[in-house]
Amino acid sequence: MEFKLKTTQFITSAVEPGGYPDPGPPEVAFAGRSNVGKSSLINCLTRRKKLVKVSQTPGRTQQINFFDLNQGELYLVDLPGYGFAKVPKVMKASWKQMVESYLETRSTLRAVVVILDIRREPTGDDIMLLDYLKARGIPVIICVTKADKFSNNKRISRLAKLKPVLTPYDPGFVPVSALNAMGWETTWRRIWEMSGLAGADAEM
Ligand code: GDP
Repeated sequence: MEFKLKTTQFITSAVEPGGYPDPGPPEVAFAGRSNVGKSSLINCLTRRKKLVKVSQTPGRTQQINFFDLNQGELYLVDLPGYGFAKVPKVMKASWKQMVESYLETRSTLRAVVVILDIRREPTGDDIMLLDYLKARGIPVIICVTKADKFSNNKRISRLAKLKPVLTPYDPGFVPVSALNAMGWETTWRRIWEMSGLAGADAEM
């Protein structure tokens, strides 16, 4: 089956399961540290400039945002960013509770896209999330973003360094850039496949 992105629409924001839209189509969630480039990546994938607001103040979006693609074909879910150093402890606990209840209860969840910054070592928070997803058997797509920040050669050597760290979680981790859309096709193909929506020959 071919998957073509025709429409993208914001559905709702929620802080707890009671506020989620009814489960229906397969769902793919996006998670990452505050300021990692999650909003930019979702906007890039959906070819929408302002579907998700690019953050001015890191750590502020503390809601789960649901987006509908093609009127009921696939839901994209923007999870709140984590790991912002200045966030008070109580906010960290509320993030954990909010995200864990989503990950634990959402029956239609097919995969989580975990976004990392190519210039930084994965943090303890990143690894904790990856371990958590692995332990729960939730499929992971790792997108290593801001890949445009490096020249080709530097990027290749950086990715080689990240390989042993990331392979245990996702051997197919994808270098991406919201700036020049690098990795766009591969990321979509993996999302479709994990959602059971399309084969490798799909077009957008
Ligand atoms: P979020 O907090 O994870 O949603 O991060 P944002 O999408 O708001 O991005 C944080 C900052 O990184 C913004 O200044 C973006 O313009 C910048 N950014 C995001 N993605 C990329 C990318 O792929 N390449 C470059 N060069 N900058 C990016």
